[in-house]
Amino acid sequence: MQLCYLFGLGTGTFGRVYLTKFKTTNKFYAMKVLKKSEVVRLKQVEHILSEKRILANIRFPFIVDLFCTFQDDHNLHMLLEYVVGGELFTHLRRAGRFTNDMTRFYASEIVLAIEYLHAKNIIYRDLKPENLLIDHQGHIKITDFGFAKTVLDRTWTLCGTPEYLAPEIIQSRGHGKAVDWWALGILIFEMLAGYPPFFDDNSFGIYEKILAGKVQFPAHFDPLAKDLLKRLLVGDRSKRLGNLKSGSEDVKRHKWFRGVDWLGLLDKSVRAPIIPPYHHPGDTGNFEKYTIDLEEDNDNRQQQSGDPYQSLFLDFT
Ligand code: AMP
Repeated sequence: MQLCYLFGLGTGTFGRVYLTKFKTTNKFYAMKVLKKSEVVRLKQVEHILSEKRILANIRFPFIVDLFCTFQDDHNLHMLLEYVVGGELFTHLRRAGRFTNDMTRFYASEIVLAIEYLHAKNIIYRDLKPENLLIDHQGHIKITDFGFAKTVLDRTWTLCGTPEYLAPEIIQSRGHGKAVDWWALGILIFEMLAGYPPFFDDNSFGIYEKILAGKVQFPAHFDPLAKDLLKRLLVGDRSKRLGNLKSGSEDVKRHKWFRGVDWLGLLDKSVRAPIIPPYHHPGDTGNFEKYTIDLEEDNDNRQQQSGDPYQSLFLDFT
């Protein structure tokens, strides 16, 4: 094998992500490894195939690059660019909350990414600080397209993270692009406040609060940020900013974004608010320590021979 596994970067619902080095070139990559049996058990085959198909067909400065995919009898592999700055979540928890300017910077890059995806009829459906990484210059890289979907109109699958679910997902009314604008509102709120607008110790309590739709804005919020959030966190998606006549343009034209250099952001000439400490391209200092048991992974591989799921993942090459 030309790749060596060095470090566990994180874990998703049915897979793990490792820092890997390509032996011949000494280049670093993030390798997402998904256990076929788990993907099947958790009924995620369609989601994984869609993640691969979507990532392979897009390219954008604020979205993680997928280089290739492959599989063996037990696992599916996705070779991704390694994003060295870690999760925005880690930086947010460390800071407590972000300033208005910092929040606007990250929100603007995310608006551009949502605009790009929606123009290709892709809804992302899992916007949250854990899925936003920052690169060596501090720019956003969205990762985890496990719930992303190409849709022309609406879709009905319940997926996402409780705190970030739009009312129409909870009510199973069929949902579309508007869910990403709702989630952007939740994300901006969380960056400014340090906590999400609707929270409870169980999912049911969170859903009740989302449907009730009452948001308590901390006194320190900029009035324009509050105005934007009141337009994004609108239960009725037909009245939600981003989902109106001019789409993402309405969001970009909101006064809170006044002065944002959208083109400068796209070519990354705008300086990011956090430049992550980083000593070399394979530095893992910005990731939480998370132990992986490669022995255990190998044992799991040896328990079963052959590939009973071969026919399900023919596309995963
Ligand atoms: P995922 O299963 O895609 O949600 O990834 C789980 C975790 O692995 C993320 O929350 C990140 O901490 C980490 N991760 C995923 N993709 C990358 C990447 N391309 N570079 C660095 N870390 C990553």
